[in-house]
This record gives sequence, C-alpha cells and structure tokens, in this order.
Amino acid sequence: MNHKEALKHNIFKIISKSALELNIDSYVIGGFVRDYLLKRGDAKDIDIVAIGSGIALAKQVAKNLPNKPKVQVFKTYGTAMLKLDDIEVEFVGARKESYNEDSRNPIVENGTLQDDQNRRDFSINALALDLSEANFGNLLDPFNGVEDLGNKIIRTPLDPDITYSDDPLRMMRAIRFATQLGFIIEKESLNAITRNNERIKIITNERIVVELNKILESKTPSIGFLLLEETGLLKYILPELTALKGIDEVEGQKHKDNFYHTLEVVDNIAKHTNDVWLRWAALLHDIGKAPTKKFSKKVGWTFHAHEFEGSKMVYHLFKRLKMPLNDKMKFVQKLVFMSSRPIVLAQDIVTDSAVRRLVFDAGDYVDDLMTLCEADITTKNPKKFNKYHDNFKIVREKIIEVEEKDHVRNFQPPISGEEIIKTFNLKPSREIGIIKEAIKEAILEGIIPNEHEAAFKLMIEKGKALGLKTSS
Ligand code: ATP
Repeated sequence: MNHKEALKHNIFKIISKSALELNIDSYVIGGFVRDYLLKRGDAKDIDIVAIGSGIALAKQVAKNLPNKPKVQVFKTYGTAMLKLDDIEVEFVGARKESYNEDSRNPIVENGTLQDDQNRRDFSINALALDLSEANFGNLLDPFNGVEDLGNKIIRTPLDPDITYSDDPLRMMRAIRFATQLGFIIEKESLNAITRNNERIKIITNERIVVELNKILESKTPSIGFLLLEETGLLKYILPELTALKGIDEVEGQKHKDNFYHTLEVVDNIAKHTNDVWLRWAALLHDIGKAPTKKFSKKVGWTFHAHEFEGSKMVYHLFKRLKMPLNDKMKFVQKLVFMSSRPIVLAQDIVTDSAVRRLVFDAGDYVDDLMTLCEADITTKNPKKFNKYHDNFKIVREKIIEVEEKDHVRNFQPPISGEEIIKTFNLKPSREIGIIKEAIKEAILEGIIPNEHEAAFKLMIEKGKALGLKTSS
C-alpha cells in the first residue's frame, strides 16, 4: 500500500532529500503512521528512523530547512530532535536491542529497519512509511499492524512475555493505548502482562505517572483502571485503590464496592471536565474509606472522617509517585477533604446559610467541587438520582446568588482587627478574635450582610456585651 497523502507536509520531502544526500534510507515510523491511519488528526510528533546515523540525518535536514533550526542532540541515546513550528521531529538510527534483567535500558547495536521494527512495542506502533524517492509513501507493515488497527487489537510484534519482561513500561503503554483508542489487548498479551506484573517495580514512578495521566485524560478512564486491576498491576501502583475493592457483609448489611463506584465517578467526571487534576480528585475521593471502615450493630457500616484521612493519604500518594507537591496537590487534597459536603446539603432543603458556608470553605474550588459531587451520584435508584441532581441545581443557583450578594468566596472581613483595636482602644487580646469571629458567623448565617455598616454595628454590640468601652 502507498500512503503518499500522509506525507504532504514539506518536512518529509526535505528529509527524503537529505537522506539521499547522505546516501542512506529513512522512514517515518510509529505513532505518526498509526494516528494517520486511524484518522486521529495531525500528529504533533514525528519519529524518523535512519538506516545509519539519526544525528547526521537531523543535522542534514536542519541545513536544508530555510530557517536552519537548532538540532538538539541526545548523544547517550543516539537521537536528535528539531522543532518545526509546533511539530517535533525526532531522529534515531535503526537499532537492534537486547536487554538485561534489572533494567529497561537495552544494550543497543546498529541494525536494519526490520531490527528496528522488531524492537517496537506493538504491531500498530511498528508501521513505517518509506521516505526514499523511489518508494515514497510505501507502507512497511511486517506484523500486520494495519489488520490490528482494523480489528482494534493491541498485539506485540514478538513473544509478549519477552516484550513485557524486557521493558515493563510496555505493560502500562498497552493499557494506556487500549484506553485511549478503545482497543482490546489480545489475550496472550494480557496473560503475559499478568505473568510479568511484578516487573513494573523496575519502572520509575515518573514514567508510570505519565501513563496514568494519559489514562485519566482518556474519554473512558475506567477501561484502563479495570485493566490495571485485572492484570494485577494496580496493587503495585495505587494500592489505595485496590484496597477499596470488595463488598463486606455483616449481619445482612453490606456496603457498596467503592472501587467500582470510584471508576463510575471518574467516567462521569470525564464527561464534564478535561482538567486532569479534577479527574485525580475523582479517582482519589474515596481512598480514605478503606482505613476508616467500621461496622457497628447500631449504625451498620461507617467510614468516619474518611475525607480527612483521604486528604492526608493524597499527600503520601503524590510523594510516593513523585508527583508535584504543589498547589495541584493541595487542590486534590481539598476536594477530597470536602467531597461529602455538598451531598449532605443536597439531601435536605438547601438553605442559604449552608450554601454560604460551602462557598466560604471551598473558595475558588467551589465549582470544581460541585462537578465532583455531581459525578459522585451513582445511585441506581432513579428517585434519589433525580432528587440529588435537582438539589445540586438549586445549590449551584444559590452559589451564584449568595456570591453576588455576600462575596464570601475569598472572604475579606468587612471590619479589620485594627479597626476593632482602635474602636475599643485595645491591646492585642482575645476579644479581637471573638468579635471578628462573631461578625464572620453573622455574615455566614445571613444575619447581617457582608457590609461595613452592618458589621460596625454588630462590633459595637459585641464589644458592649464583652464589657468593652469605645475610645471616643
Ligand atoms: P503517543 O504520542 O500517543 O504517546 P507514540 O506511539 O508516538 O504515541 P511515543 O512514546 O512517542 O508514543 O513513541 C514513539 C514510538 O516509539 C512508538 O510508536 C513505538 O514505536 C516506539 N516506542 C515508544 N516507547 C516504546 C517502548 N517502551 N518499547 C518499544 N517501543 C516503544
């Protein structure tokens, strides 16, 4: 098959010409070809294999480009990269690889195109298009990758046990591609992943998180997490999630399976947000339930303070996986911590003061918190489902109303400590805190508006009640 139309971009002609000048062959390989055949839109990364030096080819291409871009050389890997507007072109010499037990970094020798295709992870990632003048656009598909694309199958070119054991990151990649593309992992491959799951331990956390994020960013993330669980990988990566699995029953009382519930929540939220951190919050919102689970005859199953426990666990989990311990982590922590607040509201009549308190506590995160809590409604009882959603609609409307009226989102007290000190001629003392708190409470309860005049009046009243005298 010829796919010249995939190579319309001028860069391919220039690579072809440059390779001819160096008297070597070159091919575009991997994700670019796969995504072209899947019509996934224009790929931003182009991988080029040279049958010779990839670095030399990159330099020759740069010379032939009108703007003479800088070539970034990665000597240790024998690769080079250049940027063309928003496209990254990576060059590598065709290679043959062999592996050691305890490392995913192979021993590398120069090889043929066939050797290079053999080292690719999946048949659909081993597809190559010829860039030579005579065969421009010819497809080289030694492992029937096109057929696998059609049948939506992830398959390794060689023995899956060897492929996954050599580089266990491929297990994560298989599951990530299955999730992103909606493909099935072929049975032998799935069994091999299960057999080799323990080898995931040699992969760095940073690499694992890259794949986890891609799974979470997919349309239906549950596909990936179910596969991770089914193959036994999840317990090595996110034991906090596997701990949520299972339904306990005591004296006829059961609780829901919080693992499958969590996955439903993640799929729900994926329909409403592309923010990967909000998706992380959905994934982790119930992790505190495993360590806090208790049964008592009186009340049945409880997960007391699981939100607090969960938010602490978020920190440890992020730290272990070498994820950023910055405001993103704090965002996830706060959402986990507050994840039960709106639903408590929605079970009853929604009062203004409860909404005001919610906005006060959640601050700028309140809209994301609502999105999380709406996704958290997985009840199969249609009456309850509608009631909660209807109430959440009211909560959302009231959030806007209360915000317009009282501005409590990033609350700034209308009376400062300094004003209290001046008014009553005080030294720093606990009375100041008491008055400030009383004003804040009165605003949140809706007793007074969030305005200086009303707050000033209340301050005078409270001060008198505390036996204070005004300075004037
Ligand atoms: P995406 O850009 O969506 O991640 P991709 O297939 O382009 O998809 P890259 O990680 O950029 O993924 O890798 C480019 C190509 O390199 C792949 O298509 C595959 O042929 C090969 N490859 C990448 N990682 C591995 C690996 N761990 N083992 C074997 N081949 C790999």
